[in-house]
Amino acid sequence: MPAVAAHLESAGHAAVTDAARVVLARVRQEIAAGRLDENGVALALDGLEDAIGRELRRLMQASLRRVINATGVVLHTNLGRAPLAESALDHVRSIAGGFSNLEYQVNSGERGKRDVHVQRLFAQLLGHDAGSAGEAERSSTVSTVVVNNNAAAVLLALNTLAEGGEVIVSRGELVEIGGSFRVPEVMAKSGAVLREVGTTNRTRVSDYTNAINERTRLLLRVHRSNFEIVGFTEQASLDELVRVGRDRGLPVMEDLGSGALLDLRTVGIAGEQGVANSLRAGVDVVTYSGDKLLGGPQAGILSGRPDLIARIRQNPLFRALRVDKLTYAALEATLLAYLRQDYDAVPALRMMRLSAAEIGARAEAIAGQVRALPPATAGRAHLRIEVCDGESVTGGGAAPAATLPTRLLALTSEHSADDLAAQLRTNDPPIVARVEDGRVLLDLRTVFPAQDDLIVAALRGIAK
Ligand SMILES: *Cc1c(COP(=O)(O)O)cnc(C)c1O
Repeated sequence: MPAVAAHLESAGHAAVTDAARVVLARVRQEIAAGRLDENGVALALDGLEDAIGRELRRLMQASLRRVINATGVVLHTNLGRAPLAESALDHVRSIAGGFSNLEYQVNSGERGKRDVHVQRLFAQLLGHDAGSAGEAERSSTVSTVVVNNNAAAVLLALNTLAEGGEVIVSRGELVEIGGSFRVPEVMAKSGAVLREVGTTNRTRVSDYTNAINERTRLLLRVHRSNFEIVGFTEQASLDELVRVGRDRGLPVMEDLGSGALLDLRTVGIAGEQGVANSLRAGVDVVTYSGDKLLGGPQAGILSGRPDLIARIRQNPLFRALRVDKLTYAALEATLLAYLRQDYDAVPALRMMRLSAAEIGARAEAIAGQVRALPPATAGRAHLRIEVCDGESVTGGGAAPAATLPTRLLALTSEHSADDLAAQLRTNDPPIVARVEDGRVLLDLRTVFPAQDDLIVAALRGIAK
């Protein structure tokens, strides 16, 4: 069949053959099951070329696809968290597409270590506002290593610092993060024993000091990434915990989760401690994600006291959890953007910094273009489109209660909001929106401006 042969060049012999076999097997099955009469058989055979073409397209399509994130959740774990900066993509392309000095010292020609590549940048960024120490002294006070994700970072730190001993944690911080990261379960796998203290809503410093015994190895603070405890509450301050740690000779570790390198107050988010804050308070090891507020690739980062980080680096688990050149390349380029203070180069930060007015102007423009369609024709869905106030959230386990004011495109039609949202997901690329109070809400905060036209086209498609 010429139409089938035409696919050979682009898809290759094996894939075309596979597609043809799948389609033929399906038709045979239909015939054998008696589901096709003579007419049906003729139709099926006539449609073979098209069916094989469709099957081939399905076969050759990547499973990972781009989607348009119109949810307004900046760090959406289900949608891949932080989009990478252009400079990170460029660096990944140049490093990963060839050979590199990943573990090679070009000067001496000797073998090197992969974890040196981002160490200097972290030291510089975390040193900047770390008080009055001199430049050299500051850089030497913070060491950093990188592993596959923050769950791995927590596992590695607990295993290194507390295997066979006890780790004291407040009952108010025994969190579960989406994707089944549960502190008690990670603790058990690390070989450390969880020692819960305090109550769900109140934990005092004395709860920690009373629980310390000869088996205690570590005091752990875990960020309440996705919930808040309000009302009659008390939490020992970081300063108090650090003081207890110093007094009793125990390291203090903080699982910060999101781990901002930027002071988030500049984007209107209060109450989110940055990594530098924790280190300045005297926390010995901080763990955080690369693809949450940092806005880089998936990674787990451990920053802290050089002697403890050195022990962590020597743990054989570190070898098992290490990251590859793609991650180092993307992370390094992202950190360089921070060093240049070019925060708008990092998409997650840029999106958080957008004002409601900027977002509203784009929403009005889209609404205007969709409304400008020719008068209603028969069968056209009555798509009502409004622009209204709303709220975006950062997501990714940062500042759970903090929201950013935004302007939303609100859609209603004679179909249900769920049907309308499902229709948007059939777009190519799929548009993922929120459904609230019987309306479909599109928040352009998380939509790249270059995608606005795709949204116009999709909405026009629905309205016509
Ligand atoms: C997100 C988060 C984790 C898990 O981090 P991953 O990078 O997703 O593995 C662990 N702890 C806290 C407090 C978090 O917010």
